[in-house]
Amino acid sequence: MNQTNQLPTEELQALDAAHHMHPFTAGAELAKKGVRVIKSASGLTLTDSEGEQIMDGMAGLWCVNIGYGRTELAEAAYRQMQELPYYNTFFQSTHVPAVMLARDLADIAPAGFNQVFYAGSGSEANDTNIRLVRHYWASVGQPDKSVIISRKNAYHGSSVGSASLGGMTPMHKQGGLPIKDIVHIDQPDWWSLGGDQSPAEFGRLTALQLEQKIEELGEHRVAAFIAEPVQGAGGVIVPPETYWPEIQRICDAHEILLIADEVICGFGRTGNWFGSETMGIKPDIMTIAKGLSSGYAPIAGSLVSDHIAEVVSTAEEFNHGYTYSGHPVSAAVARENLRILREEKIVEHVREKAGPYLHSRWSELAEHPLVGEAKSTGLMASIVLTPDKARRAAFPGKEGAVGVRCRERSYANKLIMRAVGDRMVISPPLIIQPEEIDILIERVVQSLDETLAECRKEGLING
Ligand SMILES: *Cc1c(COP(=O)(O)O)cnc(C)c1O
Repeated sequence: MNQTNQLPTEELQALDAAHHMHPFTAGAELAKKGVRVIKSASGLTLTDSEGEQIMDGMAGLWCVNIGYGRTELAEAAYRQMQELPYYNTFFQSTHVPAVMLARDLADIAPAGFNQVFYAGSGSEANDTNIRLVRHYWASVGQPDKSVIISRKNAYHGSSVGSASLGGMTPMHKQGGLPIKDIVHIDQPDWWSLGGDQSPAEFGRLTALQLEQKIEELGEHRVAAFIAEPVQGAGGVIVPPETYWPEIQRICDAHEILLIADEVICGFGRTGNWFGSETMGIKPDIMTIAKGLSSGYAPIAGSLVSDHIAEVVSTAEEFNHGYTYSGHPVSAAVARENLRILREEKIVEHVREKAGPYLHSRWSELAEHPLVGEAKSTGLMASIVLTPDKARRAAFPGKEGAVGVRCRERSYANKLIMRAVGDRMVISPPLIIQPEEIDILIERVVQSLDETLAECRKEGLING
């Protein structure tokens, strides 16, 4: 028995409103409008309960890297459920999928990464990282090194620890976050924060905030710096080229661990296996989730470099773990996903074909009267909507109102594109082909034209 049934859309919407509390959704607004019901999917295309077909420009939530409908993953899950649906990895136990996936990960990770600590989600993995870096420093006799420096507007998850690492003020406001010893510096968002500086100058100066913060707190207090190689949920902020080299220099100079949150950037999104490779950085820990299983089953982890793993393996027991750390069904699905990524050369496809093609087509959007900057790396991209490019101005009124309009126009034009404030972002499945990128761009342009017309009608933009 599966969950497909023939209930009419309105009935599903009413039941959903009555019983289902949604993440990151204003409940009242949703109940009024009715939720969108997605029924099935294949490749890049979603089908809703009314039979409408929509191109998924977001790969779900940045995760369905190999696209929808790969039966090999379903079969891997089915086989594993029959053989061993569950066993734990606590107390000196393991199972075949956990072992084999760990070996696969060591194969694809950069040199010096040979160990993984499993989790069920990116949030859990980042919670692990908070405890792991503090445990590491305590184990080498520096228990005061407990502060983790992160960035404003970063997204690292939704649990108490990971949301504290994140830099989203609306999240911090609910529930008294951040937890102790987590502080935030600026994000390398030149468009919004760069003022009169050149992007290169701004990138370097923003990185130097890390050094200032370390000096302010004292090096003996700082455990780690965490960042996404390219900020995703914060609006696909591709940093100026000067940013990461300076950050790496500072982490090295001050003995601060570097945690790269690869939850979005990992597994091909930027045209390499890891965003750290694209940005040329050498992290000590990498958070992985989303694309690890292409979202077909929940699984995540922390890839831990040898020098940390060595300390942790000889230190006092790490009192930490999740029931589903390395879940056998999820691990089997992830292995199959990695096999497909490797054998079908999907990472190379992003690096050599789809990424460069998207870059050239996406850059053209900067010519549109509503668009300020248009940025992309691999298959993640953003545009900023603005009423005045020259001044890099924001729209009058509530931030994000124009973004939401553009998102709605996009949905009407059969493309899922996400709004982050007044930035529009995409992150399609990695299997996208050039002719499908053309269709995507066509729908973006159509949506921008319609949004521009609405803005003009309402006097939000001159001319
Ligand atoms: C989605 C995301 C997370 C959180 O992952 P969940 O599986 O939703 O807990 C963490 N970091 C980044 C960069 C993400 O995009």
